[in-house]
Amino acid sequence: MKIMIIGAGASGVSAAINIKRKYPHDEVTIIEHSDKALKKILATGNGRCNLGNKQLHLSFYNHPELFDKYSFKEYVSYIESFGFKTKLIGDLLYPYSESAQTVRNQMLKLADKLSVKINLNEDFIDYEVKEEFIIVKTSLRTYQVDKLIIAAGAKSTKGLGNDGSIYSILSKHGYAITPLHPGLVPIKTKENTKLLDGQRLKAKVSLLENGKTIFVEEGEILFKKDGLSGIVIMNLSNHINNNKNEYKIVINSLGENIQELQENHQQILDKREFLSQYFSPKFVEYFISHLNELDLIKALQNWTFTFKDFYDYENSQITVGGIDLSNIKDHFESKFEKNVYFLGEVLDMHGPCGGYNLTWAFMSSLLLMQ
Ligand SMILES: Cc1cc2nc3c(=O)[nH]c(=O)nc-3n(C[C@H](O)[C@H](O)[C@H](O)COP(=O)(O)OP(=O)(O)OC[C@H]3O[C@@H](n4cnc5c(N)ncnc54)[C@H](O)[C@@H]3O)c2cc1C
Repeated sequence: MKIMIIGAGASGVSAAINIKRKYPHDEVTIIEHSDKALKKILATGNGRCNLGNKQLHLSFYNHPELFDKYSFKEYVSYIESFGFKTKLIGDLLYPYSESAQTVRNQMLKLADKLSVKINLNEDFIDYEVKEEFIIVKTSLRTYQVDKLIIAAGAKSTKGLGNDGSIYSILSKHGYAITPLHPGLVPIKTKENTKLLDGQRLKAKVSLLENGKTIFVEEGEILFKKDGLSGIVIMNLSNHINNNKNEYKIVINSLGENIQELQENHQQILDKREFLSQYFSPKFVEYFISHLNELDLIKALQNWTFTFKDFYDYENSQITVGGIDLSNIKDHFESKFEKNVYFLGEVLDMHGPCGGYNLTWAFMSSLLLMQ
């Protein structure tokens, strides 16, 4: 059987390995339009590749029902079958070497050993499903294959191979694509944050959609000259769906100090002196110039920003949205094009920071084989 996979990312290369392990006589070719296979892996986890999360909360995904079949232990043993050891740092799973290069090298070595063919610098352009086979057109030639697996990622980020061109091809074939926007991405706010550029603050952050709280997480916020970043903000960005709604980001920066502060509220005479006990000088300046003295504690508890825009796809780790799951059936096969399959980020499936998205990419390749 001839199998063609589009995209030499985490889901595409792992799918090729799985297929060759189970069906060594199948001919598996990956078409990759960039000059390197597994290029994005090198950028993950700041070069350390956060492969997964011991607290594999399926409810953190927008479609948890897609994969409840594997435990974290089974996932780790699958990852280690690529030929490297892993370790946990807190709850986060990394290669033992803490180097994404190890993941890439070992996966490619294994793919090569299994005779997976990877064609680089070749762009997938279109395909035609016939009764008995599929015609695949690339920038270099035309192929005839038995199965086509689309593992071409989404729109994050161009420099790592993802230009979103796959969605124009698939929408021509009639696939419904849920609204796309950058995910795990910093956000721009209507309020001016220039004075705080580069400052960090640990806080409880809530996201309100038209006044209703839809997401709460504690973490470190990194202020940017025109908005907010940090893992807690990036996780929050996945929940902003529609620019027509109003989204407010509410920061409670007082945490456990709130009770003591409330008790002493009446005695606060010198605002600057008071704030300096809790905040770094930049924040003190910002608060002094922005807050109303009478509402000091209330304001610190409900420090509110208004969402203006996402940073662009180049700054995003994932794309929210993708092929609508109503278009696929078991094993990620298309409902209306026989022998066409989808894997990984190209589908409308995403999770938060902390290894969840690579877990999905690898797990989807395992579920394909079930
Ligand atoms: C900076 C950064 C850091 C990240 N860190 C982490 C992390 O630590 N942990 C984590 O879990 N997740 C992380 N992610 C997210 C994770 O990398 C992705 O969710 C995952 O790589 C998706 O895998 P995929 O195989 O579905 O798609 P991709 O890895 O995007 O692979 C798709 C491949 O298809 C190719 N392609 C696309 N269109 C075509 C075409 N028309 N023709 C031929 N080839 C094509 C692309 O070049 C690409 O190589 C990070 C992402 C980024 C950008």
